Amino acid sequence: MEIFKSVFDNFMHIRRSGFYMDSIKLFKQYGGTSVNLVNFPEYSYEPENHYRKLYDDTVKTAADINSNGINTVITVGPYPLDYFYFLNSNKDPLYYMKDGIDLAVKYINDGRADALGEIGYPHFSISEDVYNRSGEILEYAMDSCRDYDIPLILHTADMDNQGYLQIENMAKKHYKVNRIIKHHANATDLKYENNILKSVIASRNNIRIAVESKNDFLLETDYTDQKEKPGKVIPPYSVPKRALMIKNEYSNYEEILNKIFIDIPYRFYRKDFFTL
Ligand SMILES: [Zn+2]
Repeated sequence: MEIFKSVFDNFMHIRRSGFYMDSIKLFKQYGGTSVNLVNFPEYSYEPENHYRKLYDDTVKTAADINSNGINTVITVGPYPLDYFYFLNSNKDPLYYMKDGIDLAVKYINDGRADALGEIGYPHFSISEDVYNRSGEILEYAMDSCRDYDIPLILHTADMDNQGYLQIENMAKKHYKVNRIIKHHANATDLKYENNILKSVIASRNNIRIAVESKNDFLLETDYTDQKEKPGKVIPPYSVPKRALMIKNEYSNYEEILNKIFIDIPYRFYRKDFFTL
């Protein structure tokens, strides 16, 4: 079913031990055309080769997605909670996560991946020490991305305007505000006055708030592909369903869909398939 020439889910985790390509087939069946595939944290790998294995797995998964007729943006990088995994393995999280950033930048510069993430702060309350160290890792990621103009995908707890402004200030010092996107943002965040791009969860309510805000946004499911918890995650066809909702409910739907599925993703990721 074609809803629009481009229907892009800006954040999905797909993994071999989950529903894997069945999730992608569903996405396609409902009219999806492209996804941002973000590496799925995997703590069964040894710390030494953790990131190489993780990134290779993500690149392979993307190839399988492509062979199902869906285009991919590939996002690789350390996840904020990796911090505790390294700590529990008696390894220095800063050393290993910075190393993971270096490797991600290498994959991106080699053309094997497109964006760095999801990086930032744990989404639950943490000690000041962990907060500061997470900040140090994020600054390192921004510095690394700046050298090559790499899109950066941010994972944080819910933020108020003050929280966004802190990130914006960090970005001004270490990178560029317009190369950073906050994933899993609330649609109500769009009313805040800051220039961090927001990717909001594709719920009906969020669509209404986001469209009304007239601000730039992307849509995502933050789909976590796990067989243990079916029904607990937002389904993989949610973005195509919301695309159809926009088409049915807004007279200027072409303008809206062009913006969120072509113009903004192309501006941010610079992948040609958005414009073809
Ligand atoms: Zn996240």
